[in-house]
Order: sequence, then C-alpha cells, then structure tokens
Amino acid sequence: MRVITPQELLRRALADPSAPVAAMRVPEFLTAIPAIGEGKRDRILKELEISPVKRLGGLGSRQREDLRRFLDERWPELQPRGNRSRLVVLAGPTAVGKGTVASHIKEHHPEIHLSVSATTRKPRPGEVDGEHYYFVDDGEFDRMIAAGELLEHATVHNASRYGTPRRPIEAALAAGRTVLLEIDLQGARQVRAADSSATLVFLLPPSWDELVQRLVGRGTEDAAERTRRLQTAKAELASQGEFDYRVVNDDVARAADEVARLAR
Ligand code: 5GP
Repeated sequence: MRVITPQELLRRALADPSAPVAAMRVPEFLTAIPAIGEGKRDRILKELEISPVKRLGGLGSRQREDLRRFLDERWPELQPRGNRSRLVVLAGPTAVGKGTVASHIKEHHPEIHLSVSATTRKPRPGEVDGEHYYFVDDGEFDRMIAAGELLEHATVHNASRYGTPRRPIEAALAAGRTVLLEIDLQGARQVRAADSSATLVFLLPPSWDELVQRLVGRGTEDAAERTRRLQTAKAELASQGEFDYRVVNDDVARAADEVARLAR
C-alpha cells in the first residue's frame, strides 16, 4: 500500500484545483487523518478559522498556510530517504519561478552554497560572469564536458547549453555545506543518476492557470513559442513523482524558506 501524508494530499489539492482531492471538504480531510475524531476536528476548524463548508481547493492563502503549519507541527512528514546527502536540486516546470526562489535563498540563507552554472547563452543586461553564470562559448563547453568537469549538462529550450561545474560543489560538500542546484529537469535526472542520495525538490505553480499566466504574462515569447513552452510545462509537471519533495511557489519567501528547510 502506498502511504500518503496529509501534507502531500493538501499539496495535491492546492497544486491542481481540478484534481478530485481539491473538491474534498476540510472536515472530511481532517477526519481522514487517523488521529482526528469529530470533536478534535471541530476544535481545529475553529482554531484555524476555517468554515466547515470549505473545500481544500477553496482555501484562502492564509488558511492554506495555517493548515500546512498545523499539519507540520503535529505530524512531521516522513522522510522518504534515510541518508539524504547535502546536495539539493531545485527543478520544476518552465516559468514556475525557480530562479526567483533560488535568488531569495542566496540572499536570505547564505549558509547554503548556490551553484553557478556554465552556459553558452549570451549574458542578459545586468548579468555578471562568475556570479550569475560562467558565460562560455561552445568550444569551451565541449572542453569542459570532455574533461569531465561537469556534473551534469543539458540543452535547455532547444537553445543554449547549461551545465553544473563539479569542482566547486565537491569542495562545498567536503566543507560540510549544503549545495543547491537550480537546474532543469534533464539535469535533475542526471544528478539523481550520478548520486542517488541527492535530494530532489520539485517547485510547483499554485495552479495550472497561474503557470499559464506566468508564461503568457512575461510577453517575451511569440505565440508559437508560448504554445511550445506550455506543452513542455505539461510534460514537466507530469514528472513530479520522480522527486523527493514538492514545494508550491505560492509566495516566493515562503517557498524559499521551505526549500531551505528541506535542504538542512
Ligand atoms: P535562463 O537562461 O533563463 O537563466 O535559464 C534557463 C533554464 O536553464 C532554467 O530552467 C534553468 O533552471 C536551467 N539551467 C540553469 N543552469 C543549469 C545547469 O547548470 N544545468 C541544467 N541542466 N539546467 C540549467
């Protein structure tokens, strides 16, 4: 039997409003937890100020947060793997906001070493070589691959190549630090293959509609490109089961803190 935690059930409901679990009423959800009977259920609803007619998918952001915190305090989630390494991968669908979450972690959790990738794409205005990326040409990227200097590498969006330099990561891990990689899904799979004890975190949009909004709202791509990216996002969302943890990016600071906590 597959055991699913209340937190996981809640995550699924919040991630996809069309999922059957999103239509579940909160009282039903609570009494499905073995430790909760009817009396306790009513006290919890009162404490969290949630109406008994509310469905999981219809919770306000404050209520979601309160319910999540309540569950975490009382039933800490089972760790899926006993000997997780300090190598943490943050991946997720296009436009989910991985970069923003990673920047927030860099700023607010300096104890976590954020890996700097090599890429063949051109720097955007404001991007600094060695800080945001190591900007290299195709020849140099090929050399790095041949010399075994990259832990993983992939071509992203059928365009530029990206890869994770191995050396700085090994040094940080050896020094006892936690290392965070913000990379694409192909890269995440390669890291898992190279190190099965790595912790894989999947960043989810609050909903599919929200993801579409983010993709379209950027306005930087034409219609054909947007369609292509949406298709990619759909396929990417389907791979979330391969990950150890799922974090919903409903609020950047909150999501960043959750990732940082998982990385500890
Ligand atoms: P951008 O060009 O917008 O900075 O990044 C595009 C995509 O490349 C993002 O999805 C990001 O996660 C991914 N990416 C950045 N660095 C790496 C890397 O080292 N390896 C892989 N596989 N993907 C990366």
